[in-house]
Amino acid sequence: MKIICIGRNYSEHAKELNNEIPDEPVIFIKPDTALLRNNNPFYIPDFSEDVHHEVELVVKINKAGKCIPVQFAHEYYSEITLGIDFTARDVQTKLKNKGLPWEKAKGFDYSAVVGNFKPIAQYNHPISAMPFYLLKNGIKVQSGNTNQMLHSVDDIIAHVSQYFSLRIGDYIFTGTPAGVGPVTENDVLVGFIEEDKIFEFQVKK
Ligand code: ZN
Repeated sequence: MKIICIGRNYSEHAKELNNEIPDEPVIFIKPDTALLRNNNPFYIPDFSEDVHHEVELVVKINKAGKCIPVQFAHEYYSEITLGIDFTARDVQTKLKNKGLPWEKAKGFDYSAVVGNFKPIAQYNHPISAMPFYLLKNGIKVQSGNTNQMLHSVDDIIAHVSQYFSLRIGDYIFTGTPAGVGPVTENDVLVGFIEEDKIFEFQVKK
């Protein structure tokens, strides 16, 4: 399986990092070795002094496809969860400044936290207006709603599948809202979709 991630999909987050707002989705991929599940602790890697949390809604692909027309994209997923796209911001800044790929900053081991997937139908909101948030040590640090996305889930699937065939079990991280920030040892991160707790885990070093 592969983990496809969308960058700069919320304009307030793009602005907080002084990034341009893109006219098509910014895409990067994490390897399957990046997965961290089951509320296992996250260990800050030795190569970074500035690892940031990016809370994101995650969609699971349930049907294989390529060049999927946007009007059929909704047939390719039915379950969502919440995840964290951990980012070594210091490493990423160095790579960005040199115009190099981001993989070392974004795709390192255990950088992709995912909660349990649940049917979208079990929530009160549609996928196009789903609220979610992240608590760090009990304080709300990020809060978003998919209605603030620059590119909707269906747009993302249509776009991504022009370049990468989608397979059953692939994950799509759909971008983070504003409020990203560093994690430190002993932080506790708790994520919610609506008021449904999706994950709770500790940061260690
Ligand atoms: Zn992200």
